[in-house]
Amino acid sequence: MKLDFRNSMPVQRTTLGDFELTVLSDGNYWADGGTMFGVVPKVLWSKRIEADERNRIPVGLNSILVRTGEHNVLIETGIGPKLDDRMRRVFEPQEKLMRSIEQAGVSPDEIDIVINTHLHFDHCGWNTVLEKGRVRATFPRARYYVQEGELHHARLQLERDRVSYLTDNYDPLVESGQMHLLRGPSEVVPGVSVEVFPGHTKHMQAVILKSGGKTACYISDLIPDTAHLDLTWVLSFDLFPLETIENRKRFYQRAVPQQWLVLFTHDVTIPWARVQSAGEGKYLVAS
Ligand SMILES: [Zn+2]
Repeated sequence: MKLDFRNSMPVQRTTLGDFELTVLSDGNYWADGGTMFGVVPKVLWSKRIEADERNRIPVGLNSILVRTGEHNVLIETGIGPKLDDRMRRVFEPQEKLMRSIEQAGVSPDEIDIVINTHLHFDHCGWNTVLEKGRVRATFPRARYYVQEGELHHARLQLERDRVSYLTDNYDPLVESGQMHLLRGPSEVVPGVSVEVFPGHTKHMQAVILKSGGKTACYISDLIPDTAHLDLTWVLSFDLFPLETIENRKRFYQRAVPQQWLVLFTHDVTIPWARVQSAGEGKYLVAS
């Protein structure tokens, strides 16, 4: 059976105190189901998400636009337009983010902050575009933010994960001075801060939004979607799976009792939800 998850979501908005949050989407791409669920047997994960005849599952690419009143903050920039032909055949990117930004009623010039949680190609693809043979910033007025340690790791180009790091997504911004490198937890603008949650990579940062006594968190690939809420359902891509489990615990210790709105980077249908414990390391979308 052919699945059809490839229609984009309608514009979805919510408020968090004085902030307005809009889900943007770069469309979906395909990933091998096994790589997405690591040591979890297929008989279990296939109850949560159905694979196609090539064992692929659809993966969402959710960015969040945060209008704080003073700033337009873009969290993540999707898979982008610069994959080579081989990667295009594998992932079938849809490259919808710019249209999604337009639908949300902002122009690229109006984005003044871009935050990358890490530098895997499916999180920073629209940081830059190729124009007349040159790579330039997609958001010309924006300051971009990532952890310094993540950039350092990306530049090592290690055998294990160099395929995930496409240098055109970040090096031109470092050279132009637009990429700002953070060391550990930092406030980017009032109410928008980042905190490192190691596991997927050593320096992956979550984005924490606080306004009017409410909190939301873009937890990125530490918990990529609602099929990965349980502590031990860890991606095979994670470089430090035991740290993923410990950091998920650290996250839930705050997010569950304080009823944080959890923003999911790769969920095809649920971009945000509150989460509750179901006991024994299991978690559910709160009803
Ligand atoms: Zn990643």
